Amino acid sequence: MYEISERPRVLAPHSTTGRPSRRPRRCGVCAGVEQVGTTYFERAFDEHASVEAAGEAIADGLGFCEAHSRALSFEAGRATRVARAFSAAITRIEPLLHQSVVDERCQRLFFSGRHRCPACTANDATAAKLLTPVRQDWLGSHPSVGRTELLCWHHFQSMAGRLLLEPRGQAIQRYLDVVDSASQALQQRANAGMVRASALLGQDLRRAWAEASGPSTPPPRMRTLLAMPDRCPICEIVADAKRNWLRDLSSSFTRYSAEYLWLFAPCCHRHVSDVVHLGDRALLEAVAAFVLSGIHSRLKQQLADIVRDLALAREPKPVWYRSRRRNRDTAAPSVPAPVRALAPRCRACEAEAIALERATAHFVSEMHDEQGRDLLGMGHGLCLSHLAHVLPVAPSATVRAFLSDLHSARLRDLHANLALRAGGPSAPWREAIYRFRGWTR
Ligand SMILES: [Zn+2]
Ligand SMILES: [Zn+2]
Ligand SMILES: [Zn+2]
Ligand SMILES: [Zn+2]
Repeated sequence: MYEISERPRVLAPHSTTGRPSRRPRRCGVCAGVEQVGTTYFERAFDEHASVEAAGEAIADGLGFCEAHSRALSFEAGRATRVARAFSAAITRIEPLLHQSVVDERCQRLFFSGRHRCPACTANDATAAKLLTPVRQDWLGSHPSVGRTELLCWHHFQSMAGRLLLEPRGQAIQRYLDVVDSASQALQQRANAGMVRASALLGQDLRRAWAEASGPSTPPPRMRTLLAMPDRCPICEIVADAKRNWLRDLSSSFTRYSAEYLWLFAPCCHRHVSDVVHLGDRALLEAVAAFVLSGIHSRLKQQLADIVRDLALAREPKPVWYRSRRRNRDTAAPSVPAPVRALAPRCRACEAEAIALERATAHFVSEMHDEQGRDLLGMGHGLCLSHLAHVLPVAPSATVRAFLSDLHSARLRDLHANLALRAGGPSAPWREAIYRFRGWTR
């Protein structure tokens, strides 16, 4: 069987005195992205920045993600520029609501499902820049693995996914050791173990605060939500599903310790962050151990795939095989397509996805009823992100035309308000942020 060649030399993890070196408390790329990211709104809504460009980015992404929407809603000092950028975005989007579904721009905006928050896109670009020297290091003959050890799982995957097979295998083998040593340290219940595990998971423990999960409440009724004047009904139902998941996770851990953790444990960065915010140290340790063991399994699987691919590459080709490339000898070895970052199934993401699909089906069935349409007509309507989710599955022309007309009118009103006034607690610029991509408020 083909084996990954010798391990590269280790430069950073231990000091020469025999004492373990002080490890940073966070992934360097996470910290770098956060530092650059704090100035994103300053750059995007600077007085010298193009309002049209900002509006185009907002229209393409259908607004900012929940985290960036919340952050932007505190930027009262930039209210005027934000209002102008959202006005420009509305000017682009509103006419498309009346386009036929075969119109290419309408399809791209409402039917593609590939909406990416502009601030998250900028963060990805920063991360790619910061990861370039680490990746180039692995392409050299003496990679300094110490740099790789300081990456969180997400950034390690981004870095390793674009390496050729051999260095990717070496990098994964090394990172597997890092994950295993973090798991062992976590089992010893040392403070350093928790700090190391949270760095690997890309979490910042300083963000921990006791978030009251509150008593269980009856599920919100669709008809009540439809008429709410300031909320998107689907946002509310998905947020309720998340609150329930967090409550179930917490209460099952209190009653059964880690025995049934696999039923509720999150794995994705966003939902592990929610557990960090709960501020329950024992629960966070159990979740971190669960996620690290999932990462361990994924890394082992990736290594096995690489070893198999390398072995296959060395097999002689069958006589009947003809390469499609004409000039094989002159072509330089190309960098492989990036490997999709594999993540174990996150129970919280599943809970949210199920809630979204159920809420969408329920919403569409209400829209077939005239009373349901009247209620929505009195209420806020959908955020644009959920409108884009509902429109492709709204079957009848009546429902689709009603939703297009209603939201088109809402956008025109908002556009007029944005031009009239900027300040105030219920200012239209804050309403614009919410109208594009709602969140629980
Ligand atoms: Zn990171
Ligand atoms: Zn974002
Ligand atoms: Zn919504
Ligand atoms: Zn998740």
